Amino acid sequence: MTEHVHIAIVGAGFSGIGAAIRLLQRGTHEFVVLERSEDVGGVWRENRYPGCACDVESPLYSFSFAPNPGWTRMFSPQPEILEYLRRVTDEFGVRPYVRLGCLVEEASWDDDARRWQLQTSQGPLTADIVISGMGALTGPSVPAFRGIEKFQGKAFHSAEWPHTQGRPEQLVRGQRVAVVGTGASAIQIVPNIQPEVARLSLFQRTPAWVIPRRDRAFGKLEQRMFEALPFTQQLLRMGLYCRHEASLVGFRNPAVMRIIERLALRYLDSQIADPKLRAQLRPNFRFGCKRVLLSDDYYPALTKPNVELVGAGIRELVPDGIIDNEGRLHELDTIIWATGFEVTDPPFAKYVRGRDGQSLAELWRGSPQAYLGTMVAGFPNMFLMTGPNTGLGHTSMLLMIEAQLELMLGALAEFERGAVTIEPDAATQARYVAELERGGRGTVWTAGGCASWYLDRTGRNSTLWPWSTYRFMRRAKFERDDYLVAT
Ligand code: NAP
Repeated sequence: MTEHVHIAIVGAGFSGIGAAIRLLQRGTHEFVVLERSEDVGGVWRENRYPGCACDVESPLYSFSFAPNPGWTRMFSPQPEILEYLRRVTDEFGVRPYVRLGCLVEEASWDDDARRWQLQTSQGPLTADIVISGMGALTGPSVPAFRGIEKFQGKAFHSAEWPHTQGRPEQLVRGQRVAVVGTGASAIQIVPNIQPEVARLSLFQRTPAWVIPRRDRAFGKLEQRMFEALPFTQQLLRMGLYCRHEASLVGFRNPAVMRIIERLALRYLDSQIADPKLRAQLRPNFRFGCKRVLLSDDYYPALTKPNVELVGAGIRELVPDGIIDNEGRLHELDTIIWATGFEVTDPPFAKYVRGRDGQSLAELWRGSPQAYLGTMVAGFPNMFLMTGPNTGLGHTSMLLMIEAQLELMLGALAEFERGAVTIEPDAATQARYVAELERGGRGTVWTAGGCASWYLDRTGRNSTLWPWSTYRFMRRAKFERDDYLVAT
């Protein structure tokens, strides 16, 4: 007999663990969390490259229902965030529900049985409801450069940093290394490996806007205060929340960003003395169009004698290294692909099949759509955490995740009132997508003059929520009339 569960949560990152906690808090115990790897943590387990840290302040990048007075820094490093997730998994009693090493290979809706059929690496399973916590940044993207297979050295993606004894940067000590890409991952890797490597060639295609992060440690006294007087940490969280929400004025009105650009250019000038390097690093699009990068040590690292910023682009790979578009060979021992993720073509979309047997990938064709970023017409009883248009360019994703969880709990109450299947009405979903499209027009993300991963292959923003998180929190309520509910 195939095992049946009421709710299958797929993935044990912030979304999956958050969903499990909220279920337990409301007294729902009939669920499992299926996690492909051997630990919880999601992207914070996978990404362990040197310098990996959150670029959103920790008091805001944590669950509102699980504050952590022990954060050691304003922008905590990856090991601390992973530890936080492990701890809340235990403290909220989620651990017994987690099945590690359980890869979900396929999920298909069985319209006769009105349930999901899951094929997993630990055998088949059926579920009334599936909550996907599979994440938006989980499919590493490595461009298909000519000759990529010929390179004889080591090459790996930033999200697949090999396990090492000791600090991760030791892996490249004394080597000739290339980092390809200058996004949020690269700017954390570069300053951390620069002191270790013999030579670092940084391949930049598009210079990004960089502003100081102004990280700082939380002192013991502050930590004790957060512990003894939790409202003080809440006040800090609220202050950070308001500051990030206020920044939306600029993201929605690109002209405002010119003021910030002047400050960012002043910062660039203060950090980089060499006029040629300065010119290479000067962005040519509106501030905020691509993710704004926060770093105190990226620019200084680029001025070091063992670092070269290569702007010529990559022609091909050869056994000894990379030949750039000017025909110069960069001899290398290791290449680090800091080239981002398959966001609008997420790997899981190929394996999730709805009522008509069509996969999400076939339906979306690289341009994902979902009602409130969470449910998809034709895919009943499935909740996509961090789904289409729930990404953010200005504040903490945890705010969106928690709002989506509230929406999911609203739908769950409908199941308890007798619903057997729930899915969004296709017309409502189409109207919603059109509304998003209108809302995104003129924002810096669509009108800022850059190519970013926020835009899909049709040029549509299918990634970001274009308004405030407050607006999403208010909007993401379960309204029965928006759905097809079958009893
Ligand atoms: P990314 O922002 O997508 O950056 C990828 C980089 O690779 C870009 O510089 C891109 O250049 C370059 N690239 C891609 N294809 C290329 C090609 N064919 N040739 C040359 N260069 C190429 O990826 P990421 O840095 O991994 O960051 C992804 C997202 O993860 C971030 O936006 C952020 O949301 C998240 N993240 C968060 C944190 C955090 O602190 N919370 C840290 C790391 C990542 P172009 O700009 O020209 O496309």
